[in-house]
Amino acid sequence: MASVVYDNITLQYPGTDRPAVSELNLHIEDGEFLVLVGPSGCGKSTALRMLAGLEEVTGGRIMIGGEDMTHVSPKDRDIAMVFQNYALYPHMTVAENMGFALKIAGVDKAERQRRVEEVAEQLDLTEYLARKPKALSGGQRQRVAMGRAIVREPRVFLMDEPLSNLDAKLRVQTRTRIASLQRELGVTTVYVTHDQTEALTMGDRIAVMKLGVLQQVGTPRELLDRP
Ligand code: ADP
Ligand code: ADP
Repeated sequence: MASVVYDNITLQYPGTDRPAVSELNLHIEDGEFLVLVGPSGCGKSTALRMLAGLEEVTGGRIMIGGEDMTHVSPKDRDIAMVFQNYALYPHMTVAENMGFALKIAGVDKAERQRRVEEVAEQLDLTEYLARKPKALSGGQRQRVAMGRAIVREPRVFLMDEPLSNLDAKLRVQTRTRIASLQRELGVTTVYVTHDQTEALTMGDRIAVMKLGVLQQVGTPRELLDRP
């Protein structure tokens, strides 16, 4: 686990006339669930991708766990990310999908099995471990995608609109499940959504963005009390 600091971060994509993210200053506490919310195009994904090391910043610093990570490669940031298009490996079982990154990282079989079983339990996936992804519902696949990220025990967990492919009912169920799992694990989490209800029900704090600029940051209560 680790705190995250955006220290005056700016990113302007080549060939564009304004920064996608402008002078972003944001401190995320160790263990906090922070939601970045705002309309499409406001710079949420860019902010997340910079933290993951997938975009080079134009200016400013990214700190993770008190260390300057601005120019550190994605694989050395100890971050796991779940996207809306969570492609699972179709030929592998749920257990194999969840353990694959650990296998690549050289974790031995017994330890892999232990971690996969533990996370499967937390995500209610135990009975599906031997299945292939095509034999799962959308909500179950989405949980496998989360599980695959969590088994790596990252210091920071990033989610970009992870519920957008689910129907409304499943979305509500899944957001409760993600929020309680995050609290159980205590892993620092940055969650991106354009959905204000999702933001207000899930986040410890919410950062509201508009046109690349941070508008306000606060707890759900603080934001709702404001006119
Ligand atoms: P959000 O996640 O809030 O929808 P993004 O971070 O994806 O916003 O995009 C922020 C702005 O940057 C938008 O104006 C978008 O069009 C632009 N943008 C995103 N990616 C690129 C890119 N690779 N090249 C140029 N412009 C981009
Ligand atoms: P959910 O309840 O998550 O919306 P579905 O309605 O899609 O899931 O499926 C209901 C149940 O049927 C789920 O528990 C799912 O695991 C199971 N199921 C779905 N597809 C298959 C399949 N091909 N073989 C066996 N069980 C399946």
